[in-house]
Amino acid sequence: MGSRQNRRFDALVLGGGIAGLEAALNLAEQNFAVAVVEKDASIGGKMIRLSKVFPTLDCSSCITTPKMAAAAHHPNIALFTYCEMQTLERRGEDLVAGILQKSRYVDVEKCIGCRQCEYQCPVLVPDAEQGGFAARKAIYIPFSNAIPQKALIDTDNCILCGRCAKVCPTQAVNYFEQPEEFHLTAAAAVIATGFEAIPLEDKVQYGQGRIPNVITALQMERLLAPHGPYNRVLRPYDGMEPDSIAFIQCAGSRDQSLGVPYCSRVCCMYAIKEAMLLSGALPLADIAIYYMDIRAFGKGYEQFYQTAQAMGVNFVKGKAAYLDPGENGAVRVRYESQEATGGVQVAEHDLVVLSLGLVPAWDPQGRCLLSTGGDKFIKTVKPKTAPTLTDLEGVFVAGAAAGPKDIVDSIAEAGAAAMEASRYLSKQ
Ligand SMILES: Cc1cc2nc3c(=O)[nH]c(=O)nc-3n(C[C@H](O)[C@H](O)[C@H](O)COP(=O)(O)OP(=O)(O)OC[C@H]3O[C@@H](n4cnc5c(N)ncnc54)[C@H](O)[C@@H]3O)c2cc1C
Ligand code: SF4
Ligand code: SF4
Repeated sequence: MGSRQNRRFDALVLGGGIAGLEAALNLAEQNFAVAVVEKDASIGGKMIRLSKVFPTLDCSSCITTPKMAAAAHHPNIALFTYCEMQTLERRGEDLVAGILQKSRYVDVEKCIGCRQCEYQCPVLVPDAEQGGFAARKAIYIPFSNAIPQKALIDTDNCILCGRCAKVCPTQAVNYFEQPEEFHLTAAAAVIATGFEAIPLEDKVQYGQGRIPNVITALQMERLLAPHGPYNRVLRPYDGMEPDSIAFIQCAGSRDQSLGVPYCSRVCCMYAIKEAMLLSGALPLADIAIYYMDIRAFGKGYEQFYQTAQAMGVNFVKGKAAYLDPGENGAVRVRYESQEATGGVQVAEHDLVVLSLGLVPAWDPQGRCLLSTGGDKFIKTVKPKTAPTLTDLEGVFVAGAAAGPKDIVDSIAEAGAAAMEASRYLSKQ
């Protein structure tokens, strides 16, 4: 891991998700010195939090962990985790990134990841890494295959009882650690800051997160994951095994009222994937997907869609207009059917999963001269012929930072961004 000094590299990679890791590894293999800056306490991005991936149904963490480890152990890569890129500016030949090292309250050089602190901490809080469905301690290592395996304290919930400091065998806990600002300098940069889902609270018609048993697709990923909160699929609010599950597509995508007029591209496929995994986990459950149209655009995706139909997933062509709480924790879906029957229909399900719209995770406005497009993702100046080129010299973009995309496209784009960066560096 990199120390928190102002340091110079050949290239900066901003974001340690799959696109950032792939770009960093490509550059490091060409002998460039690379810094990866990641705002979370672990690298891995969204992919390390998924269960399996479409269209192959490979275990997501099994294919992400080796990339994370390769980046962490590469002699040409320095990882800066729990570090947020705040600004990025060009100063003559150099690109200078302003970075905020957030406080972990644990000295990463001393922490050996033994978890003694976690075992002793008396505070339990919902674990966002498990969709909020399991508990973690106030001092914690983010998840079992997090890189680095270093603890951090959640000061919103810590009661300063002192137990973690007392038990830590390396005296790593430091309640007085301060955040630190520093700079990283390089000649080229790859922006790979990815996406976030729109907040559930933004969608008034779908209950703004207040209807029990309405969850997000990322929460469903955790329910389906091998190391998920319950090790089986249960309805989170009462532990019941759901007999009927519905997915609501375009929940906040293609929606002018939320300022997300575009298609989020991956939701059709991940809903189909989750529906298929659910049919395996709960063979007797009825699974419905409410959709406007299914966009199965990638290699092998149409076949994947057809397999889901053959497995009995019910594809209901209709726009879900409102969700209401039903009897015994059920959720009532009011939708406008676009099938032969037509008209407004009502159906009840035990559990409803929202395929939320995707928006950029990082907004350069006021922090960097990079332009964004009408969709607020990083603007690419030659989208057809050089899709990783931005309007700031020496800065390239990869993955979902440039717009929603799947893993295959993110990885391909990361390779292209690394190639462009390498060409640029060779000319310097
Ligand atoms: C529910 C769900 C299921 C999915 N399932 C699949 C699937 O089965 N198959 C598939 O192909 N795709 C799937 N996807 C899409 C997949 O998640 C994306 O293709 C992939 O995560 C894009 O990778 P990325 O590295 O571009 O972005 P991300 O995974 O978002 O990584 C970006 C990283 O940048 C970091 N970052 C952001 N801002 C800053 C900052 N200012 N400073 C430092 N770091 C920052 C973030 O913390 C994050 O770690 C799914 C998406 C969702 C929502
Ligand atoms: S902070 Fe100390 S007790 Fe906690 S994991 Fe690190 S070394 Fe172990
Ligand atoms: S000081 Fe805070 S983090 Fe440490 S054991 Fe007590 S409550 Fe947990």
